Formats: sequence, structure tokens, C-alpha cells
Amino acid sequence: MKNFLKELKKFFYTKILRRKYYRTGSCKCCGKCCKKIYVKHAKGVIKEEKEFKKLQLLHPFYTYLEIIDKDETGLVFKCKNLDDETHKCKIHKSRPGICRRYPQEELFKMGGELAEDCGYKLEPIIPFKEVFEKVMKKH
Ligand code: SF4
Ligand code: SF4
Repeated sequence: MKNFLKELKKFFYTKILRRKYYRTGSCKCCGKCCKKIYVKHAKGVIKEEKEFKKLQLLHPFYTYLEIIDKDETGLVFKCKNLDDETHKCKIHKSRPGICRRYPQEELFKMGGELAEDCGYKLEPIIPFKEVFEKVMKKH
């Protein structure tokens, strides 16, 4: 029964939700993910300030962000709603959906990664060994 439920969960996540990772763990409220943010839109990760300015007109979340750096992935933002002393979100109860759902595996597609010591983990649903064996069988 336990194995059946495990397989059912795997089927649901991979075939229905089309996910590659299970999210486990919980938030430790360190605030690190609000200090290093990449922004992605239809054409990819935002690399120029003028692209970002246009995006700010589309959703209030983008108005919370300020540019703090630029690296090989794109512009790096920090959220103005983060309290630097407490590391807590100043609008926690009304924070946007994107913050409520964080972290999602789309993070990897944007060249991002979980912050060091983040309380969450994104664990592959199909272990690397299993993927490797399938590929080897095909060849
Ligand atoms: S709104 Fe709050 S949770 Fe969302 S990025 Fe800003 S500080 Fe973080
Ligand atoms: S980095 Fe992880 S543990 Fe820290 S606030 Fe963000 S989600 Fe929570």
C-alpha cells in the first residue's frame, strides 16, 4: 500500500503537474531569498534596466524590487519590503503569490539556486541513477 501511494504521488507530480522535483522542508525566515532575486519574463531573465522598467508597469511585485547588481545570469534585485534588521518581510500577510509559492523548481531554469542554508530542499523525483540507466538502455 505504501509503495502504491508513493508511485501514485510520483505519477501525479511528474505526469499531471509535470514537476521534476519534490519540495521538502520549511522556511527558516532568514530572508536570504529576498536579497538576491532574478526576474524572468517571456524573453528570459531580465538583463537590462529598461526591460525591467516596462515590467514594473505590469505587476506591483516588480515595484518592490531594486537593482543591486548584475552578473552572468542577469540583473540581481533586492526586495525593499525586507526588514534588514529582523530579516522578515514587512508585508508578510499581504505578500504576493510568487513569494507565497517560493521556492519552485523554475528557479533552476533561471540560473538561480536555493540560498545557502535555506530550510527548503528541491529533491529530484526520479533519482539521477534511474535517469542515467534509462538513457543507457536507449543507447
Ligand atoms: S514581498 Fe516580502 S517575501 Fe516577497 S520578496 Fe519582498 S520581502 Fe521577500
Ligand atoms: S532562503 Fe529559504 S529559509 Fe531563508 S527566507 Fe528564503 S525560503 Fe525561507
